[in-house]
Amino acid sequence: MTDTDSTFDTEVHYDEDADRSRIDDKTVAVLGYGSQGHAHAQNLHDGGVDVIVGLREGSSSRAAAESDGLRVETPDDAAAEADVVSMLVPDTVQPAVWEAIADGVEAGDTLQFAHGFNIHYNQIVPPEGVDVTMVAPKSPGHLVRRNYEHDQGTPGLLAVYQDETGEAREEALAYAHAIGCTRAGVIETTFREEVESDLFGEQAVLCGGVTSLVKHGYETLVDNGYSREMAYFECLNELKLIVDLMYEGGMGGMWDSVSDTAEYGGLTRGDEIVDDSVRENMEETLAAVQDGTFAREWIAENQAGRPSYTQLRAQETAHDIEDVGEDLRSLFAWGGEESEEESAEVPADD
Ligand code: NAD
Ligand code: MG
Repeated sequence: MTDTDSTFDTEVHYDEDADRSRIDDKTVAVLGYGSQGHAHAQNLHDGGVDVIVGLREGSSSRAAAESDGLRVETPDDAAAEADVVSMLVPDTVQPAVWEAIADGVEAGDTLQFAHGFNIHYNQIVPPEGVDVTMVAPKSPGHLVRRNYEHDQGTPGLLAVYQDETGEAREEALAYAHAIGCTRAGVIETTFREEVESDLFGEQAVLCGGVTSLVKHGYETLVDNGYSREMAYFECLNELKLIVDLMYEGGMGGMWDSVSDTAEYGGLTRGDEIVDDSVRENMEETLAAVQDGTFAREWIAENQAGRPSYTQLRAQETAHDIEDVGEDLRSLFAWGGEESEEESAEVPADD
């Protein structure tokens, strides 16, 4: 049933909304066998869809895909044979892969993404006649696969950029069903909204904002004579406990669980720390995402061989908090708490 509850801005789709016949008789080329690729390919295959994994000759992922019982071809052969081409190589290599496969993607075929960057910023310009869709699980691939195997689902996003056949949306919904997303719920969005909100969220809050907040907190304590170990525990390690509470019960659940002192201190001081100037910075960050400034910078950075990226990474690794953290994590049992699968790195290519 489609959830039209007015508390949602968008429709949420579940299993019964999808018509599996829209994907079951199609051939799907899954390009790439990394985090998302291995999960989409195996889930589709388990559901009876004809899957071809597209990988370069000599790719180290070939052996993995074959031992998982999948047929492997080169990306251009796979795309030429397929009705649906699922572009699951890294975003930075997608334009080059598109060049190599474009001839085999014909009118009536579908080009399918799990993130909209290259379409939204015109790094891939799809030809007329080809449907362009997105089914983006809101989880890393190993969870998309694990949930599916346990008869559970992974929430996802669905978007249609180009609908030339009139069937793009129905087919994407069937694809979302086949990889297990409609078991948990699929939200409709647009390529623009998915890309811009994703980039903003990771820059301002999730990856950029949080690490910056943690470093500033740590440095403030250490510069004022507190021990590095205490500063690490307070500003980094305990963040997990707070995030877990917010994940489970929202901010209200977190405020209910912490002490009244923590709640009062947080409520009175939080907005003094992250004040209106931070909000102004966020507006600028969002504007740079919206007007393409960030995208142009990142594309140019890649074309130049990633000089700034490499330097910033080295600088981040050299921060004192990383040093003390490494020592502390090796001393305490919680360092090994995470299961092997949760910490598993994505299979590397090359
Ligand atoms: P990944 O880096 O895990 O894997 C990419 C795979 O592509 C490699 O394993 C390899 O098989 C192949 N590959 C690498 N370089 C290649 C090249 N030059 N030519 C051909 N094949 C090559 O990628 P990922 O994280 O699964 O990302 C795939 C897509 O899914 C991206 O659009 C990404 O934004 C999106 N996405 C990722 C996640 C996630 O959590 N990882 C979540 C949602 C959406
Ligand atoms: Mg084709």
